[in-house]
Amino acid sequence: MLKPEDFLQQGDGLLVVDVQVDFCPGGALPIPDGDKVVPVVNAWIEAALNKNLPIYYSLDWHPEGHPSFKSNGGDWPDHCVQNTPGAALHADLRIVPQSVVITKGVRFDQDQLSVFHETGFAEKLRQDGVKRLLVAGLALDVCVLATVLDGVKSGFEVWVLADGCRPVTEEGGKKALDAMRQAGVHIVED
Ligand SMILES: [Zn+2]
Repeated sequence: MLKPEDFLQQGDGLLVVDVQVDFCPGGALPIPDGDKVVPVVNAWIEAALNKNLPIYYSLDWHPEGHPSFKSNGGDWPDHCVQNTPGAALHADLRIVPQSVVITKGVRFDQDQLSVFHETGFAEKLRQDGVKRLLVAGLALDVCVLATVLDGVKSGFEVWVLADGCRPVTEEGGKKALDAMRQAGVHIVED
C-alpha cells in the first residue's frame, strides 16, 4: 500500500472535496460509505501537514432554494444548505487550521460541481506554487470528477486518491475513473 509520506513532495497540494455531513450516511444526500473516506483522507492530510504542503478543503455551500435542489427544479434533494449542520465538514475529518476553504454551489442561477468553477482556485494554486494536485473526497462521479477534469484543463498534474473517494453509484464511479484516465488524470488505486 502506498504511503502518503513516501508519495508527497514539494510542489504538491492536497484538495479534500466536500467531505460533509450531508454526503455521509445519515445525511441529506448520503453517498454509500461516504464516511469511509475520512480515515484515508486524514492520513494524507497528516502527511501533507508534516511536509508543510498546502491543504485545501471545498464545501458544497448552497443558499436555500438552490437550483440544484429538486424542490427548485434540480436533480438533488436539498443538501449542504449554508450554515446548517449538514453542510459542516465530517466531525472526524482532520481540519488543519491554517488551510484554505473554498465554497462552491453558492450561485443562485446554476450549480458549480467543480472546485475550479469560477472560484479562482487555479490562481490560488499557482500562487502557492502547486504543480501536482492530489484530490480525494465526495462524490467520485460528480464533484471530484468535475474538479479533476478542470484541474487538468488548468494545467496541473492531477492525481486522484481513489481509496479516499466514493461514488454515488458503483457504475458511475467506474465511468468516472475511465473518463479521468482518458483526460490524463493519474489514479492512485490503493
Ligand atoms: Zn450540491
